[in-house]
Amino acid sequence: MFREGEWVLIRYEEKRYLRRLDPSGSLNVRREVLRFRDLIGKPEGIRVGRFEVFRPTLEEIILLGFSRKTQIVYPKDAFYIAFKLGVDRNSKVLEFGTGSGALCAVLSVIAGEVHTYEVVEEFHRIAKENLSRFGLGGNVKFHLGDFLEAEVPENTFDAVFVDVKDPVPYLEKVHGVLKVGGVAGFLLPTTNQVSALLRNFGGKFGGVEVLEILVRYYKTVPERLRPEDTMVGHTAYLTFCRKVGS
Ligand code: SAM
Repeated sequence: MFREGEWVLIRYEEKRYLRRLDPSGSLNVRREVLRFRDLIGKPEGIRVGRFEVFRPTLEEIILLGFSRKTQIVYPKDAFYIAFKLGVDRNSKVLEFGTGSGALCAVLSVIAGEVHTYEVVEEFHRIAKENLSRFGLGGNVKFHLGDFLEAEVPENTFDAVFVDVKDPVPYLEKVHGVLKVGGVAGFLLPTTNQVSALLRNFGGKFGGVEVLEILVRYYKTVPERLRPEDTMVGHTAYLTFCRKVGS
């Protein structure tokens, strides 16, 4: 049942809204009004007029609910990254920079423990607020500071993900804090950045893969099922590798 104060995802035809169930609140779309007090105590997945009301998924929370002052890792990439890193409830994962906390939120849902570093105080604060507003991040340790200067114990993390402009200066430290066999991942928007990364791996990382995730949505009309006219053509290239012992 929907409870007062919880977040709900409201669909109205192609539109989507993320709202908190404040009993005095309402949503007005094309002159149709949905009163939130009428939803409290009702089962999830309810239809009221042309409104449909659900509990939000993590993708909807990130895309519609997170404040963003930085570029984020989009859910299509973040969901893939989380499993590609081999993360589960027993894993200890490190990521930087935190940015708006989008990838951090995804990792926190499946990992045992997440450590995230952000050098800009404002982004660090916003990311913390983004996660806590939606009841996420109980297993996240938010560190304010430059990852390069942080004291991080060696051979500690099962996986590390790097989302900064130039990851090359961090490679040695990433290698150091990873457990042998652990997975490292990198997100970079351009191929020349990926080339620079590959050139600097040396012999320290094995099992190197570079890929990108293309997602094409379809118009959901059974009689003329076909792709949407526009799509997100590019977000970033993903590089994954494993720490090889010496
Ligand atoms: N992955 C984030 C998300 O999904 O919301 C977005 C990360 S954003 C593209 C890159 C972030 O890295 C910026 O917020 C920047 O301030 C931070 N950053 C850059 N260098 C850093 C460093 N050496 N240590 C910690 N954070 C750093």
